[in-house]
Amino acid sequence: MTSHAFDTTLAGASCPFMPVFGAPQVMFVRGSGTELWDVNGKRYLDFLCGLAVTSLGHSHPAITEAISKQAATLIHVSNFFTNDAATTAALTLRELLADATGQQGQVFFCNSGAEANETALKLARKFGGRGRHVVVSAFGSFHGRTLAALAATGQPAKHEPFQPMPEGFRHVPFGDLGALSAAIDPTVSAVLIETVQGEGGVLPADPEYLRGIRALCTERGMLMIIDEVQTGFARTGRWFGFEHSGVVPDVVTMAKAMGNGFPVGAVWARNEVAGVFQPGDHGSTYSGTALATAVVSAVIAQMKMIDAPALAARRGVYLRDRLSALPGVADVRGQGLLLAVELAGGRDAKAVYSELLERGLVTNAVTATALRLAPPITVSEAEIDEAVALIAGVLG
Ligand SMILES: *Cc1c(COP(=O)(O)O)cnc(C)c1O
Repeated sequence: MTSHAFDTTLAGASCPFMPVFGAPQVMFVRGSGTELWDVNGKRYLDFLCGLAVTSLGHSHPAITEAISKQAATLIHVSNFFTNDAATTAALTLRELLADATGQQGQVFFCNSGAEANETALKLARKFGGRGRHVVVSAFGSFHGRTLAALAATGQPAKHEPFQPMPEGFRHVPFGDLGALSAAIDPTVSAVLIETVQGEGGVLPADPEYLRGIRALCTERGMLMIIDEVQTGFARTGRWFGFEHSGVVPDVVTMAKAMGNGFPVGAVWARNEVAGVFQPGDHGSTYSGTALATAVVSAVIAQMKMIDAPALAARRGVYLRDRLSALPGVADVRGQGLLLAVELAGGRDAKAVYSELLERGLVTNAVTATALRLAPPITVSEAEIDEAVALIAGVLG
């Protein structure tokens, strides 16, 4: 690769970053729509979107304008006050969730997916009350890197270096309703679930499984918390992943695409659930900054304008059909524009990922044998054709 000019400065102890991410592969300097350029001027197609984040593409003019305008007007006040951007965004989000759930609810803004889940976990504990604090989640899930979100994450290997984990978490096999039911006892206050396990390998939950969880939660008075951090905001072809199964969650956590790259997250809960929080129970200095929430409103407005859910569904079918036809592809799974390509013959996904990066296509090796593709929802059919040709070139 020619784009390693920074190798010497980004290796070992001379690297300014903590060594949590592994050696960076490319240094990017600019992006526009689906395209990225590295420090050497090489062009790439971005079929990862910063992990399902820049769903409207890089440097979207409406988002850039919202950031610039708000930055020049008001960035932040404290939560002793509100601001018009946060109020507008909260009302917009509330309406979006009311449309998706048929329920009225309230929102809390935060800065990331992990924080959104932390908030939901605290809400579940407050809702359950003393002695009823356990949250059940699935093996293979991913809920974030802060300590409680990590404890909820069903990946024991990620827990190991940080034992002991916070208490009150239980994991069950993903997709097995019987196992979930057996794990419920009077100490359980909530079930936390993804509608598609993103980091776990792009594994969509069976709609029947989700409906079963809903029924179980209703029957036992537990909260159904859906983690829409990766699936939310049109990525799967609906505004939220849960809409595919028709389940109505009690709590929804969001982040990633809701800021198109600007750090922001949110938790929504139906009124009766949100109302268990009292002043002082939770907070964040940066909850609902004018700048972050102006971006949220701009993202939602833009997504509505282009009918992003329908577009993601349409482009998803287009991409999926072309990928499925390639020799070297065993299977394509996922929803909308959150897809995984299972490579034939157990081919090494990391090697394919590296070769694609070399040829100018950004993807992600989500498992040892599968590539994750999450292009911007604004991706054109011509860009999809170009990406599929690159993939065909490497696999063929
Ligand atoms: C990315 C992700 C998170 C964590 O979000 P951060 O913003 O990185 O903290 C949580 N849940 C899911 C499903 C995710 O994909």
